[in-house]
Amino acid sequence: MSADTAPGRRSTWAPLTGAAHSIALEVLLDGPLPRSELARRLDLSAGSLTRLSKPLLDSGLLVETRGVPDPATGRLTRPLDVDDSRDRFVGVKLTADTAHAVLTTLRAEVVASGEAALADRSPAHVARTVAGLVHGLPGDEAGSVRAVGVSLGGKVGPDGVVDSARYLGWEDVPLGASLQDLLGLPVVVDNDVLSLTRAEQWFGSARRCGHFAVVVVGVGIGYGLVVHDQVVDRPDSGVGLLGHHPLDPHGPLCPAGHVGCAEAVLSTEALAARAGLALRRPVGVEEVLDLAERGEPLARRVVDDAARALGTLLAAVGNFTMPERIVVSGENARLAEVGRDALDAGFGAGRNPLAGPIPVDVQLTGFEEWARGAAVTAIRTFVLGSRR
Ligand SMILES: [Zn+2]
Repeated sequence: MSADTAPGRRSTWAPLTGAAHSIALEVLLDGPLPRSELARRLDLSAGSLTRLSKPLLDSGLLVETRGVPDPATGRLTRPLDVDDSRDRFVGVKLTADTAHAVLTTLRAEVVASGEAALADRSPAHVARTVAGLVHGLPGDEAGSVRAVGVSLGGKVGPDGVVDSARYLGWEDVPLGASLQDLLGLPVVVDNDVLSLTRAEQWFGSARRCGHFAVVVVGVGIGYGLVVHDQVVDRPDSGVGLLGHHPLDPHGPLCPAGHVGCAEAVLSTEALAARAGLALRRPVGVEEVLDLAERGEPLARRVVDDAARALGTLLAAVGNFTMPERIVVSGENARLAEVGRDALDAGFGAGRNPLAGPIPVDVQLTGFEEWARGAAVTAIRTFVLGSRR
């Protein structure tokens, strides 16, 4: 059955409001859940919960699972769950030369993936390449894709217009509208760090945490923040604000002219340049981390200095935004593992000894995780009506 012949199925989440929407969302994020637990969380009577959940079960959006003893009453109960077998979502992450895509379930479990090289960076060519990639993903023969999310490093307006993306050389590119025309599906475009933060909040290690920060260490330094259960999505979120936070008054210059800012000290280019100078040969970050693990003294010094600087940066994040936890993510997140002692020393040196501890999770992030983040932006738009 194609999406066009199943209009009712495309809109099952959209008309939900109030308590019915809250029930469905709780079950999506934490299900399967017994009715008694749902009633407790949402402060509903057992009767109200039964009345409100009936249309959700009738429409097939929720299903009853196998009977288990209710923890509250001991009686046999059939917890509610979402039917995540019917709706699919696509996430696409754009880099300077490749589009990476995943096909996911409603709970962002990856069921297929693919990638396509970008022969050039013109918006028309990129849109055609992404459309071909989405159409070619295995597993959507039944027309089950409900929405497509695209993420990239840059500033993106709520209307899907890419205001600026430096590495693609784009300004004011209406990528969302072009792709929607090509695909005939709802398309949402998002900043890549924001989409990763949205994925962390719903389906990641910081899941259901009301106040946390995501620090991305890779080609650039990214920052995402969740406060009072809301992803902070401001016009400047895609500019790369934390990347230019000063860390070392004697450090190297960044392209914006800052001395020793986070990008100048911690980006992939910065780490590779410092290690290359010490080792007198071109070297990639992964190799530097491998060498440091094996005890090569110059690589160890490069890693420890960078990890200590990252700890200083995380202390600033902790001091300014008081998160419950910090997630370190991105392609060079391994820096926080290999240099963990130095990171902890830098973090501790930047904190008031009276301040409480902030757990730091390290999330190794490959292109599939980035693309999954874009899929979560699509899932949230489908479920909430906007990417918030
Ligand atoms: Zn800078």
